[in-house]
Amino acid sequence: MIELERALDIIRNVPAGAQVETIPLGDTRGRVLARGVLSPIDSPPFDKSAMDGFAVGDGDAMREFTIVETVAAGGVPGRTVGRGECARIMTGAMLPAGTSRVIRREYVREEPGSIRVHTPETGDNVIRKGSSIRAGQVVLRPGVIGPQDIGALAGSGIDRVAVAVPPRAAILCTGPEIVPAGASLGTGQIYDSNGPQLCAQLAAMHCPASVRTGIEDERAPLAEAIEEALSRCDVLILTGGVSAGNFDYVPGCLEERGAEILFHGVAVKPGKPVLFARRAGKYIFGLPGNPVSTFVIFELFVKPFLYRRMGIDWAPVVFPGRLARAVNRAAADRTEFLPVCVRRGLVEAVPYHGSAHLNALAEADGFIRIEAGVHQLAEGTQVDVRPL
Ligand code: AMP
Ligand code: MG
Repeated sequence: MIELERALDIIRNVPAGAQVETIPLGDTRGRVLARGVLSPIDSPPFDKSAMDGFAVGDGDAMREFTIVETVAAGGVPGRTVGRGECARIMTGAMLPAGTSRVIRREYVREEPGSIRVHTPETGDNVIRKGSSIRAGQVVLRPGVIGPQDIGALAGSGIDRVAVAVPPRAAILCTGPEIVPAGASLGTGQIYDSNGPQLCAQLAAMHCPASVRTGIEDERAPLAEAIEEALSRCDVLILTGGVSAGNFDYVPGCLEERGAEILFHGVAVKPGKPVLFARRAGKYIFGLPGNPVSTFVIFELFVKPFLYRRMGIDWAPVVFPGRLARAVNRAAADRTEFLPVCVRRGLVEAVPYHGSAHLNALAEADGFIRIEAGVHQLAEGTQVDVRPL
């Protein structure tokens, strides 16, 4: 068994996969930007009005101005505005030559052909050319693309983006007791929750995935399923059969078939028996069968692994909060991830009886991490919540 940080280092050190494709901007949400994107333009491309009002010259301290034209958003100012003159201007319209600030319309009284300013305007109400971003500056660095990033890219006129090609995953759920939802349950059987859960976790990363459920806990069918899956995926994810039970054939089978075991057993709870292996440029995860273990181990190891293969060093953003109640645990030999919910800044453990307690996750907002060696976190302790 190795320490959690050691296992995470092994994951962080897998080589980045290099495949990149260029796709339309509208399809990029959740994809990984492959290289930094520079803005080809100043944005905004011209000085523009932030208000509906009247554009005037800089040092013009007069209170009365003659209106010489009206400029709408998208319109082109027709002439230079001189001293004592103003242009009626709309939000988003280009400032005419000779003007540098805008007096909002609520601050003036309008007469036919002229205005009189009754309230002093303090701001200039102009969004300067290039004030959001200048041509040649970085719009976006490599990372997971969100809707706000799509907005920023579009704002610079970018319509096609180079993104990493997500690894193809194959999921094998081992155990003859596992049947897919929709089938009828025989005696001693349970529904496959790991398969759909893993598919959804992978889908969030845009990794295509296939699932085979209920692989027999026997050497030959397991070996056949592993070979078949490896022939058509980049990363193989097995669930169940990875610990030390009589029918846990996954580690032995992988070794017999020439996989190099990179780790097997990590001091983490849940998910201690987790296995990570490599064969001929393909990677293999063996996740323990209990659904909470599967979920946590995916988040801890598989997710950063997949992002690493897509070229980025991903780490979750965590949010601080205070424990509403003390958390105690009898054994402290492993780093533990405990499902919690957050209510008005207070963090509370959800009712949870261990790694088989799938439904506890549905009540949780995130996890807190309790370090190995720590038996108790007192009420009020500040903890970091890692969102689900
Ligand atoms: P194992 O890791 O194979 O010893 O399985 C540990 C526990 O997880 C057992 O109770 C299994 O029945 C359960 N389990 C294994 N695979 C799945 C699955 N795909 N969905 C839900 N539970 C599972
Ligand atoms: Mg099993």
